[in-house]
Amino acid sequence: MSDKNIRLRFAPSPTGQLHIGGARTALFNWAYARRMGGSMVLRIEDTDPIRSKKEYEVAILDGLKRMGMDWDEGPDVGGPFGPYRQTERFERYLGVAASLFQAGWAYRCFCSSERLVELREAQMERKENPRYDGCCKDLPKEAADARVAAGERAVLRFSVPEGQTTFTDLIRGEVTFQNTEVDDWIMVRADGAPTYNFVVVVDDSDMEITHVMRGEEHLTNTPKQVLIFRALGLDVPLYAHLPLMLGKDGKKLSKRTGDTALQDYLDLGYPPEAVLNFLCLQGWALDGENDIFSIEELVKNFTPESVAKGGSIFDPEKFKWMAGEYVRRDSVERLAERCGPYMTAAGLMTREELVERNEWFLRAVKVEQERFSLYSELPGRLAYLFAGDGDVEWDQKAEQGARKHEGGAAILADFATWLASQFDGGDAVDPGALGAATKEWIGERGLKIPGLFQPLRCVLTGAAGGADLFEIIGLLGHEKTLARIAAGAARLAEEPRNA
Ligand code: GLU
Repeated sequence: MSDKNIRLRFAPSPTGQLHIGGARTALFNWAYARRMGGSMVLRIEDTDPIRSKKEYEVAILDGLKRMGMDWDEGPDVGGPFGPYRQTERFERYLGVAASLFQAGWAYRCFCSSERLVELREAQMERKENPRYDGCCKDLPKEAADARVAAGERAVLRFSVPEGQTTFTDLIRGEVTFQNTEVDDWIMVRADGAPTYNFVVVVDDSDMEITHVMRGEEHLTNTPKQVLIFRALGLDVPLYAHLPLMLGKDGKKLSKRTGDTALQDYLDLGYPPEAVLNFLCLQGWALDGENDIFSIEELVKNFTPESVAKGGSIFDPEKFKWMAGEYVRRDSVERLAERCGPYMTAAGLMTREELVERNEWFLRAVKVEQERFSLYSELPGRLAYLFAGDGDVEWDQKAEQGARKHEGGAAILADFATWLASQFDGGDAVDPGALGAATKEWIGERGLKIPGLFQPLRCVLTGAAGGADLFEIIGLLGHEKTLARIAAGAARLAEEPRNA
């Protein structure tokens, strides 16, 4: 099924980094636009002059692009319904506000902020919902004109009619609000700035948006917006309010329950494909069986109707697990390319070294591929390879394991002599063949495998577990391997340092 007239939008406010909830909203809009062969619009809602910042706009666009999303119209690519930044559309909004005022849908309100605070407090005391009491609603036109002429400042309030407001939500069905629940809200502030609930309608209508898919936190804004559409005699778009993303504590996702900015996850080295896949699962499922699927599958199958109503639980452990799954499935080349900057940031390899020693680095990545989940974890896992051969840090468990075997130092020294002959002059070893030969060597001497492997692993890596020992020997190369064994054997022959 396709319908090129379908138009969706993502409308972030550039007041902070792109939140993962926002990234999910963008993703679902984008997926549906692409599925239907319709259009995706990016609109910047920068009406808040204090909190909006250009750098956030840049960061949001960048984050979306890094996730592989694109848009057909937007502030950076233009389009037939521009401009796509709200601050560039004020004239249009004020024109529409004037026509609503002329038609009697809006009135000027002169109430001071002191009066509004008192009103609010009194209502709260009476346990009523705070709302504007309509004090200025019936001011005669001449009186209001005179007050404006005398320099008094007024806001423009929408005059909410009696009755109820019903709209279609593709996830929830028909949604009805009693108009008594909707305040006579401010459309234009005293300084002439139009507000969100008003401008969003002008834009959604001007930009011919057919589907408004956004977070559930906007559900209570929707009756306000629908009333404006109707007052203007315009078609109301279809809505889809995506379930809130909740932390494991069942509360709204916040810094407290983990990182909430998309950028933080990307900076930590969550594979972008894993981020996309995980976001898909926040309120949506492919088939209830497969959690791991590609973005193409999302595009092929996504409909707003198939989104769940209930709050989705954002599970950080599952997210990390998924990151690992994507690391496992990636090609070594791409993984190395993506992990390289983390190696440089950790001071382990310069950018030049990453190029010069590319083959070595590819091997190192392959050796660890099964064992890490985030790109930022790789430097920590490989750090031992870059340590000075005499000062590899031994963790307690590794050292205890190594010292358990009597004569470990002597076995290591023996092994080193034999190993030197296996290198065949260069660094190249075949880890599989070396492993088999080593096991024979162990057997011939009547030793047990751990009797060599535990001390060896300790002196080479300082850890009790990890990658295949012979892969590690391959990565360290001839000289370093022998130097580490020599230094480690000497240390093992001494008393433990922290004993
Ligand atoms: N600018 C709003 C926000 O960032 C979105 C408004 C909408 O989608 O209608 O939450």
